[in-house]
Amino acid sequence: MDLSTSVQQLPHIGPIYQKKLKKLKIKTVGELLFHFPYRYEDLSNIINISQAKLGEKICVQGKILEIESNRSWKKRMSLTHAVIEDKTGAVKATWFNQPFLAKTFKKGDEICLSGELVFGTGEAYLDNPIYEKIHKETGPTHTGRIVPIYPETVGLSSRWLRYILKPLLTKFKDKIPETLPDKTIKEHKLLSLNKALWQIHFPDSLKLAQEAQARFSFEELFLMGLVVLRERMKLAREKAYSVPFDLELVKKMVNSLPFKLTDSQRKSIWQILKDMEKPQPMNRLLEGDVGSGKTIVAAIATLLAAKSGCQIAFMAPTEILAKQHFQEITRLLFDFKVDIGILTGKTDQWRSKKLRNQSIEISRQKILKKTVEGEIDILIGTHALIQDKVKFKNLALVILDEQHRFGVKQRAKLVTSREKIPHLLSMTATPIPRTLSLTIYGDLDLSLIKELPKGRKKIITKIVSPAKRQEIYEFIRKEISKKRQAFVICPRIEQNDEQNIKDGKKPSSWAGVKAVEEEYEKLSKKIFPDLEIAIIHGKIATKEKDRIMQKFQRGKIDILVSTSVVEVGVDIPNATVMMIEGSERFGLAQLHQLRGRVGRSEHQSFCFLFADSYSIKTRQRLKALITCENGFALAEKDLEIRGPGDFSGTRQWGLPDLAMKALSNLALIEKTRQAAKEILEEDPLLKKYPLLVRRLSLFEEKVHLE
Ligand code: ADP
Ligand code: MG
Repeated sequence: MDLSTSVQQLPHIGPIYQKKLKKLKIKTVGELLFHFPYRYEDLSNIINISQAKLGEKICVQGKILEIESNRSWKKRMSLTHAVIEDKTGAVKATWFNQPFLAKTFKKGDEICLSGELVFGTGEAYLDNPIYEKIHKETGPTHTGRIVPIYPETVGLSSRWLRYILKPLLTKFKDKIPETLPDKTIKEHKLLSLNKALWQIHFPDSLKLAQEAQARFSFEELFLMGLVVLRERMKLAREKAYSVPFDLELVKKMVNSLPFKLTDSQRKSIWQILKDMEKPQPMNRLLEGDVGSGKTIVAAIATLLAAKSGCQIAFMAPTEILAKQHFQEITRLLFDFKVDIGILTGKTDQWRSKKLRNQSIEISRQKILKKTVEGEIDILIGTHALIQDKVKFKNLALVILDEQHRFGVKQRAKLVTSREKIPHLLSMTATPIPRTLSLTIYGDLDLSLIKELPKGRKKIITKIVSPAKRQEIYEFIRKEISKKRQAFVICPRIEQNDEQNIKDGKKPSSWAGVKAVEEEYEKLSKKIFPDLEIAIIHGKIATKEKDRIMQKFQRGKIDILVSTSVVEVGVDIPNATVMMIEGSERFGLAQLHQLRGRVGRSEHQSFCFLFADSYSIKTRQRLKALITCENGFALAEKDLEIRGPGDFSGTRQWGLPDLAMKALSNLALIEKTRQAAKEILEEDPLLKKYPLLVRRLSLFEEKVHLE
């Protein structure tokens, strides 16, 4: 038997348990051994029976003096009574509905009991204690020690897992080959695999349990480190188009702008163009808070690549944003004569230099054809860009806007599987915290836009109590009379609620939450019947969406009622009010993004947060939004409050639990990263570490960074 043996071959595991284990993704002995407890119960303090006190949870060990089961006259209940005795005294124990106990144990057996000492019907007794027969050779498993508690899903009890795991661990004791390099273990003072495996399941002390967990956290992050660093090394060996740094062209473009670039924008442009000049692929992240002006930076990189005769793919996470970029890039690059296409999977368009200031709708087929023939210089779009059908002639640069919205695999799909690897520029304002980005993306090169353009005012953010609603409406009216515009955001309509809403019924799963449609009705009929109000959400047809967004852009709509479809990227500088309903339903980073839809010009802007419940926790969370105006700090705060599980889909990555927990530990991540780097520098193909390679491939199979 080895670690890859099927659990089927273990004693006591029949088809039923196999099925249950499979639900936990446990199919092999190895996977079973690596199914770790999530906490421990310390029952290690065995006391003398004479010291037992009422109301306390105690653990005692002794001989059974008597044991019997009888059916209670009340109802159909069975009671089992036992008396056990140690050197200092005797105590009674009572179990409900476990008649088999009288058969399992007999007089004279040495057992350990753990439970609460209570008083009833005139005497003290242990109430339903955990029990265990003492085996001299194996020692206690369920009582009288630090007991492991496993995540108990699908009817696999901790007791059952302990019962299976103990003999299994005994069998493999000191026989599992170490996966981590010796030098790593020594340098970081880690427990050996064998010791850690035993101690994580059946620890001799809580300290050892922690050390065992620490070893496995280290190992998992170390493996992650190896995966990511190996990818990076692979990328560095690839070839890319070298895009000449045409300074004159940059100057011409910059001079055509109606504003002066900030220092950070200039520096970022410089870094990006320097990278693109190299014949190795760039892998750079442009981080800048909402409204810091990332688009223009990307546009300049796009222009240079296009003018060098290559193609650019510019990808945005939503259709609305892709459309906006299409218009913006066309406008910015108007004088430079480039061909731009948009592909969203719905209505596709093409704007050609030959046609001058006019975009025409052409079929998807034609867009694809023009792209593969190199007739389109810049192809802007949504996820539709990564479909297999989209082929380029000479793709030199990929730009990913709001990259946190894309999975690692999606990025990889755009970038790899080509002869020449395109340069990659990712952009984000909602950075995943540094711990996560280090883990997932490795050491990306980073360009930071630290300051906002001159003249921007701090957005005034307020948590509004229901009583003040009317005042806020008045305020919005005042802003609109000054020719400003407003957003009103409602939480998303959930899938199964859509039909209900269509049927005119209340949404089922979240009674009380305002659906966009209800809100729209209310605002347009009751509150602001005299104003121009529009509604937008994911289910509205593309053309209609376009029409609405353009109308809003041109200032022809006063209030846009929307779901979070406008969360990222949308740029309406004239809007000054962002009102968010049910704000407790959004993550902090999301709220920050939404708030970032206003404050994009010199006008003072406002963000009003309404909630459906104003619990202390909600208030605390929302307050963070008032005190922190900076997206980076907020992302860290979000991680702290919600844990990494909720963070941009981390849950789906299939990271092992320990690694998940460790994701907030920057020091550990840096340590493991360093250790992985050292090993790879010394032995890039890991020839000296065959066991590590095997473990790594199992790990890669399990972890899927979507
Ligand atoms: P984000 O970084 O959130 O993507 P955008 O690129 O959409 O921000 O820019 C936000 C707004 O700021 C746009 O209207 C853009 O034209 C404007 N902008 C960008 N850079 C500057 C600048 N240096 N000075 C003034 N306005 C700028
Ligand atoms: Mg943007």
